[in-house]
Amino acid sequence: MTGSMGRSLDEPVRYLKGVGPKKALLLRELGVETVRDLLDHFPFRIDDFSRVVPMGAVTAGVPVTVQGKVISAQFIGSSRGRAFRVGIADGTGILYLVWYNMPYIHKRFAPGMPVSASGKVEWRRGAFEMAHPLWRQSSSGDAKGPVIPVYHATQGLTSQSIHSIIKDALKVYSPYLEPLVPQTILDKHGCLSEREAYQGIHDPKSCEVWEKSRRTLAFRETLSLQIGLLSMKAEALKSPGPRPFETFREADAFLAGLPFRLTSAQRRAIEDIGRDLRSGHTMNRLLQGDVGSGKTVVAMWGLISAVENGWQGALMAPTEILATQHLNTFRQLVGDRVRTGFLSGAVRKSDRESTLTKLSSGEIDVLIGTHALLSPEIRWRKLGFVVTDEQHRFGVKQRLTLSHSDEVLPHMLVMSATPIPRSLALTLYGDLDVSVMDSMPEGRVAVTTRCVTRRQRQNAYRVVRDEVARGRQAFIVCPLITEGKTDRRAASMVKEELEKGYLKGLSIGLLHGSLSKNEINETMTKFANGEIQVLVATTVVEVGIDVPNATAMVIEDADSFGLATLHQLRGRVGRGRHPSVCFLVASSESSLSRLRGLEKTTDGFEVAEMDLRERGPGQFFGTAQHGMPDIKLAELGLSLDVVARARQEAKEMLEAVERGSASPEVFTVVERVREKFGDLLKHGRSR
Ligand code: ADP
Ligand code: MG
Repeated sequence: MTGSMGRSLDEPVRYLKGVGPKKALLLRELGVETVRDLLDHFPFRIDDFSRVVPMGAVTAGVPVTVQGKVISAQFIGSSRGRAFRVGIADGTGILYLVWYNMPYIHKRFAPGMPVSASGKVEWRRGAFEMAHPLWRQSSSGDAKGPVIPVYHATQGLTSQSIHSIIKDALKVYSPYLEPLVPQTILDKHGCLSEREAYQGIHDPKSCEVWEKSRRTLAFRETLSLQIGLLSMKAEALKSPGPRPFETFREADAFLAGLPFRLTSAQRRAIEDIGRDLRSGHTMNRLLQGDVGSGKTVVAMWGLISAVENGWQGALMAPTEILATQHLNTFRQLVGDRVRTGFLSGAVRKSDRESTLTKLSSGEIDVLIGTHALLSPEIRWRKLGFVVTDEQHRFGVKQRLTLSHSDEVLPHMLVMSATPIPRSLALTLYGDLDVSVMDSMPEGRVAVTTRCVTRRQRQNAYRVVRDEVARGRQAFIVCPLITEGKTDRRAASMVKEELEKGYLKGLSIGLLHGSLSKNEINETMTKFANGEIQVLVATTVVEVGIDVPNATAMVIEDADSFGLATLHQLRGRVGRGRHPSVCFLVASSESSLSRLRGLEKTTDGFEVAEMDLRERGPGQFFGTAQHGMPDIKLAELGLSLDVVARARQEAKEMLEAVERGSASPEVFTVVERVREKFGDLLKHGRSR
C-alpha cells in the first residue's frame, strides 16, 4: 500500500502501526475507515495538566498537576481490592496517590523522593486523592504535566489508545495533508496553517496551541460549509421550478374549516409560502417553530394548494410513529379532498406495490411516510411540493434526493422544532429562506418545569400518580435503554423499578429505539388511546409525538442531555387543555443550577441562546447539518466569531469567482469544496 507515488490519506487505517484488524473494526464504529477519517477524528476537549497547583489549593473534580515529596506509603483495603496509597506533601498540603490492584508499584517509591503527579483530584477517605495518576520522579525544574486530548471512544478502544494511534499516523502522513484554505486567508483571520493545526489539535504543546488549532480547523470547516451551502442556493435559483401556482381555493377552504383560529405566526408563515409558490421559482424554505406551534397545519395548506394546482406532494417524517400520526391527522382534517398514500419500511410488499402504481398513475395526490419516500423505485407522476418534518434528522443530502425525482425542482418546505439562535440561523441554513413561528396557539397552558435531585425523585413520581388518578397520562424519559457502565438510569430498569415501587398497579409501557417497528407502533397506539398510562422511554419520544392527554413528564438524569433536547422533550406534554408539569431529575447537586435555566423560560429560542452560551455553536451544527459531507464541527468548540468570519469570507470568495476576479488559489478552493458537495450541487435534471 505504499506505492512509489507516496502515501495517501485514503488508505485504510487497518494497516497503520498499532491498529490491525480488531482495532480497525472498533475504529469503524466511530466512523473512521481511512487515515483521513482518523486525522479528522478530533478530540472534544483536553485534560490540561500543565498547571502546577499547590496542594493547599486543589479542588475536587479538576485535573491538575501537583509536585511534592513522598511522606508515606502503605497498602490499604478498599472496596475495589487492595490499594497502594502514597502520601505526598509540598508544604501547602498533603495529597494521596492511589493505585488499585497494582501491588508492584510499591517498589518504585521511597520516602523523601520528589514526585510530580497529574490527574483528577477526588475527595476520598477524608483527604484529596488522585487515582492512577500520570506521575514521574521529578527533578524540580520540569514539573509541568502534559496537555492530553480526549477523544470520543468506544468500548474496547480508549481515548488514550486512539490518541497514540493518531500521533503515530500524524508522523507518517502529515506531509500528505492537502491544505484547503490559502495561507493568506488563514493569516487574515488569525489562524495557524492547517498542518500546524492538525499537529496542535492532536498533540498540543500547550492549552493555547490547542485552542488555536481548534479555531483554525473550525474556521476551515465552517468556510467549506458556507461555500457549499451558498453554492447550493445559487444553483437552486438557476433550476426551473414548478410554474406559478394560480389557485389557493381548496387550501384556504381547508383553513376556514379548521376548528381553531390560526395564530398570527401561522398566518405569516402561510403568506411567506404563498409568495414563494406564486413566484415561479422553487421554494426552499425552513419553517422553524417551537414544539406545539402548529407547523403541521401550515404544511398541509401547502400540500393542498400543490394538489389543486396539479401537483403531487410528499410529506416525510423521521420515524414510523410520526409518519403514521401525520397520516391520521391529514385524513382527519382534510378528508377526501386529497387522496393520500403511505409508505414506510413496515408496509407490506403488496400494499407497497399498489401504492407505487397509484403514485405513477397519479391516483395518489399526497404521499406520507418515512425515509421509504426516498426509495429510487418511486416514480412520481408530478412531484411539486415536498415537506420534510424535523429535517435535522435527515440532512441536506436526503432532502435533495427527493427533489431529484422530476424534471422540475419541487418546492421544498423543511420543518424544524429545534430553534436555532438567530445569530446562527443564516449560517446553518445558508441555502434556505427561513420563516419563524414565534407565537403559540391560544389557550395553551405552559408547561411548568421543576428541577429536583435524585433524592427528591419520589416527589416527581407522586405527581405522576396524582395525574394518572385524574385520568391523565405521563412520560418517564431515561438516557439509556439498558444499563451500561455508568450509573445513568436505563429505561428497562426504571420501568421494572416503578412497577414494583412508586407506580405499582399502573399500566406502564416501554418505548425505545431497539424495539421492532411493530412493537413501537403497538405501544404508541396503546399510549395514544389511554390503555398505557405511563410510558417509560428513551429520547425516541423527543420528536413530534402528540398525545394531548399526557400532562406529566419525569426526565431521569436530565443532566445527560443538552438544554435544547430537554426543551424538545418537555414539549411532549402541555399539548392539551390541562396544566402540565415536567420534572428534571439531576444526577448531582452540581448540575442542578444548569438545569434551572429551563424553569425560567418556555421559549425555545431563549433556550437555544442559553445552550449557545453554555456549549458554544458547534452542537447546533451537529443537529442541523447532520448528513453534510465530511463536516465535523461538533467537536471543534466553534465560536460565533469564527462563524461570522467564515460566512463573510465565503461570500466574498464566491462573489469573486462569479465576477471572474478570483485569484487562482481562491478559485481552486471553491472548486474543491463544490466537488466535495458533488451531487448535492447537481440538481437532478438528468432523469
Ligand atoms: P408542531 O409545530 O410541534 O408540529 P403541531 O402541528 O403538531 O405542532 O400542532 C400541535 C397541536 O396544536 C395539534 O393538535 C394541532 O391540531 C393544534 N393546533 C395547531 N394550530 C392551532 C391553532 N392555531 N389553535 C389551536 N390549536 C392548534
Ligand atoms: Mg410536528
